[in-house]
Amino acid sequence: MSRAFTYVILGGGVAAGYAALEFVRRRGDAALGELCIISEEAVAPYERPALSKGYLLPEGGARLPAFHTCVGANDQLLTAEWYREHGIELILGTKVISADVRRKTLVTSIGKTINYKTLIVATGARASKLEEFGVSGSDAENVCYLRNIVDADKLVRVMRSSPGGNAIVIGGGYIGMECAAALVANKIKVTIVFPGKYCMDRLFTQKIAEFYENYYTSKGVTFIKGTAVSSLEVSSGMVTTAILRDGRPLPADMVVVGIGARANTALFEGQLTLEKGGIKVNGQMQTSDASVYAVGDVAAFPVKLFGGDARRLEHVDCARRTARHAVAAVLDPTGAAGDIDYLPFFYSRVFALSWRFYGDNAGEAVHFGDLGFSSASSTPKFGAFWVSSGRIAGAFLEGGSPEEYEAIAHAVRRGAAVPDVAQLVREGLAFVVRE
Ligand code: FAD
Ligand code: NDP
Repeated sequence: MSRAFTYVILGGGVAAGYAALEFVRRRGDAALGELCIISEEAVAPYERPALSKGYLLPEGGARLPAFHTCVGANDQLLTAEWYREHGIELILGTKVISADVRRKTLVTSIGKTINYKTLIVATGARASKLEEFGVSGSDAENVCYLRNIVDADKLVRVMRSSPGGNAIVIGGGYIGMECAAALVANKIKVTIVFPGKYCMDRLFTQKIAEFYENYYTSKGVTFIKGTAVSSLEVSSGMVTTAILRDGRPLPADMVVVGIGARANTALFEGQLTLEKGGIKVNGQMQTSDASVYAVGDVAAFPVKLFGGDARRLEHVDCARRTARHAVAAVLDPTGAAGDIDYLPFFYSRVFALSWRFYGDNAGEAVHFGDLGFSSASSTPKFGAFWVSSGRIAGAFLEGGSPEEYEAIAHAVRRGAAVPDVAQLVREGLAFVVRE
């Protein structure tokens, strides 16, 4: 049994949704029947960030179809109906189990062969498992990961069956911090355990992290840092206790795990060039095989702003923009799309807080604003610039206005000169906002 399409998008996440919209915008009705999206997930592409935020609210949580792509960029809501109307075939609930780049074929788990002329790989990433760190128990009924809507439904179910109980959150990164805030909103007592010195240590400075840790502590969250959960005690399919490296037991009604993600490259290992744990692409998002493009979490692409260094960025803005760029490049092989010129942008929202980061956190960090936590009811505004070779390379801002976010993004984009760091220290945000 085989099917053939001119264009195939492998993966049905954020990047796939934005690629589909770009495709229709560029091709209009000429696109009918040419494009297919194959996804292991049972639903049309959606805005994954909603899963750790609106989806977990105790009341009135976000539910599909409200957050299908591309509402996260204030654009059209693409329901399954939209794909039908535009002649895009959505093959859902279907895992691709092998790919042959030379023959231009994919084989699905039910043995169907899909032929393509051009393939866009948008397979994203998967959550790292505790077992990869020698801890078993992932399959327990009250252990939750969070990557897709099935995981999110489990998390909601487990939270609702543990009112007033104890949650152990393993990992102090994005998932750990965002889920901890959601657990608190659901009236669950939270203990976060991670090996680092402070939370979000790949992005935050210690000072920034201290602010958030103090904020969370004021909401009743306990941090256990510099150690890890070494085992989980399971009884009747449920974890009852998490054991720390030093043997200390932590009672657990539920466990949430956020210990990093790995790009889904397995189908292409040995066929495409890999880099930074992902698939290496050029500025047009084209891989080492001219018929295959890669976008989103799985793609390692050159960032002009960093001198063309390849980066793999696991963030939604990157998925949206790399997807659009790949479609532009695919549909105009004359090269008119040019090379992607991307300004890395990450954000998070927890409790009443909201931050954005642009660029690279390389060089000397210069903090500004009031980083001293006083009360969870205040509206803090603070941040940091990273200065590298006399220029602003990165900027973080909590509690900014749209104009202020725009100003820090602009400063990073143009690499604003910092002839005198003392002036930046004195002026802080005003250094970039006055322009
Ligand atoms: P994904 O959205 O992960 O999509 C990959 C798709 O490929 C999935 O549908 C998957 O099922 C499918 N797939 C994989 N392998 C196969 C196969 N073999 N066969 C068929 N289908 C396959 N970023 C931010 O910047 N801000 C946020 O607030 C934020 N919040 C997040 C919250 C959560 C809970 C998560 C998990 C991520 C969050 N992110 C956030 C990161 C962001 O969602 C990702 O960077 C983005 O989803 C990447 O898009 P993608 O299309 O590359 O991959
Ligand atoms: P992160 O990489 O953000 O964080 C992983 C965390 O787990 C780090 O604190 C890490 O510590 C810690 N860790 C690693 N190994 C262990 C271990 N054995 N035991 C305990 N802790 C450990 O990954 P997440 O899982 O939080 O996020 C998964 C994906 O989802 C990422 O791609 C992320 O970008 C994305 N995401 C993005 C969001 C956003 O942009 N707002 C929101 C939610 C998810 P250390 O750093 O010290 O190694």
